[in-house]
Amino acid sequence: MHLPDDKALCASRGNFMSKKTVDVAIIGGGISGSALLYLLARYTDLKHIALFDKCDTIAALNSHGRNNSQTLHCGDIETNYTLEKALKVQAAARMVVRYAEHLPSASHILYKYPKMVLGVGEQECDQLADRFESFHNHYPKMRLLDKDGISAIEPNVAWGRTERIAAIATTDDYSAVNFQALADSFVDQAKIQKDKEVAIYLKTRVHSILPLENGFQVRSNNAWVNARFVVVSAGGHSLLFAQRMGYGKEYACLPVAGSFYYTPDVLNGKVYTIQNPKLPFAAIHGDPDLLVRGKTRFGPTALILPMLERYNYRSIPEFLRLFSLDKGVLGTMWDLIKVSDIRNYILKNFMFEVPLIRQRLFLQDARKIVPTLQLQDLTFAHRIGGIRPVMIDKNNRKLHLGEAKISPGNGIIFNMTPSPGATSCLQNGEQDMHIIADHLQCHIDEAAIKRDLY
Ligand SMILES: Cc1cc2nc3c(=O)[nH]c(=O)nc-3n(C[C@H](O)[C@H](O)[C@H](O)COP(=O)(O)OP(=O)(O)OC[C@H]3O[C@@H](n4cnc5c(N)ncnc54)[C@H](O)[C@@H]3O)c2cc1C
Repeated sequence: MHLPDDKALCASRGNFMSKKTVDVAIIGGGISGSALLYLLARYTDLKHIALFDKCDTIAALNSHGRNNSQTLHCGDIETNYTLEKALKVQAAARMVVRYAEHLPSASHILYKYPKMVLGVGEQECDQLADRFESFHNHYPKMRLLDKDGISAIEPNVAWGRTERIAAIATTDDYSAVNFQALADSFVDQAKIQKDKEVAIYLKTRVHSILPLENGFQVRSNNAWVNARFVVVSAGGHSLLFAQRMGYGKEYACLPVAGSFYYTPDVLNGKVYTIQNPKLPFAAIHGDPDLLVRGKTRFGPTALILPMLERYNYRSIPEFLRLFSLDKGVLGTMWDLIKVSDIRNYILKNFMFEVPLIRQRLFLQDARKIVPTLQLQDLTFAHRIGGIRPVMIDKNNRKLHLGEAKISPGNGIIFNMTPSPGATSCLQNGEQDMHIIADHLQCHIDEAAIKRDLY
């Protein structure tokens, strides 16, 4: 393979090209990229780390509280998680709490609200009772509530019910996070580490990554940087970078957007509902919005959209490059839509976007949480809600739910992180840090990590 010669490139671009060489370049300054930046700066002996983001602030897209559900997922109220998955997420959430609770800005990052998952009707209530039996030993603060117990915490949930209700609840724990503030703190903390050079390139769109003899060259609109290791944590764009470089061809991306609706302040905390086991997407919930005080936010919906970035129409052609209608993609889509529950759900979620009828439709779902909600209480939350880049595993003809990582073992990693990717930021980052340390033969201060984050 012909590798570009550094000096030749430099000469051809004149002063435009930065001649900087770093140990690690991170593309994407969302919660994933910024968590990794912090871990590398704080716990390794690597000296030079660079982070690139095309936006003018850190965590401006999916990791911004406007665009996600702001939930610290712990696995106790997520009925779509097995016990194994729940415990993994619980460990990830604990790392976030351990990191943030001692920061001076902790009160702007972590929030304690009561949280519960609600069962409505005999079958769902029995399901929650069974789940409580197998989970409560791992979650000491978890309680099983009947209607009176629910009413004491969330009166509007219990009010006006004729059917039986029950809930699994945790009332005294961190349950909400401003992930954008968390990402900001990661960058701030990385920058103050001694003897480290941490370069943050904002408003910097990376357009290509070229292999060099010992690493890669990251080329952007305003800096070209050579890096011994590159991590791409750029949402759905990570897969685009990977495939351009010949990796991850076994994946396609199914972007699932989430929209929200506002109501007046009707809930004191987070109220989740039980997921239909036939559906690959979580059911809606309601909770107080950390960024819009005095409102309750319901959602997110699950809308399949042909774009990698919400509200950015230039990302439609980028999506099309990742969604060739080959056998693997068509097979996966067919397996999904032939299930009537999934077909109806996809259709319903399209209808949730259609002005005039969307409020009326969404009201039916929201009333499962607060039965007395009225049509005039609901307002569609315009330009709120991001996109989950769900991976299609073409070889196995199925959706790859949760995080996906492509790590070819040659000094580059590509991360795609749908929910609960924000909660898992430090856990995922720690994995990447180990891969980097193995490749670059650098030291990790494991004792400090155990002390600080576990
Ligand atoms: C509706 C919704 C609700 C969610 N709720 C939760 C929740 O409650 N709890 C939870 O844990 N998770 C939740 N998630 C998932 C969570 O938001 C994501 O997992 C997380 O934000 C992913 O972070 P990231 O840093 O990997 O990606 P992003 O936040 O998408 O960051 C990627 C960054 O890459 C940058 N970028 C892209 N291309 C380039 C380029 N070419 N050059 C330079 N920069 C580039 C972008 O500007 C962006 O800042 C939710 C997601 C959605 C959509």
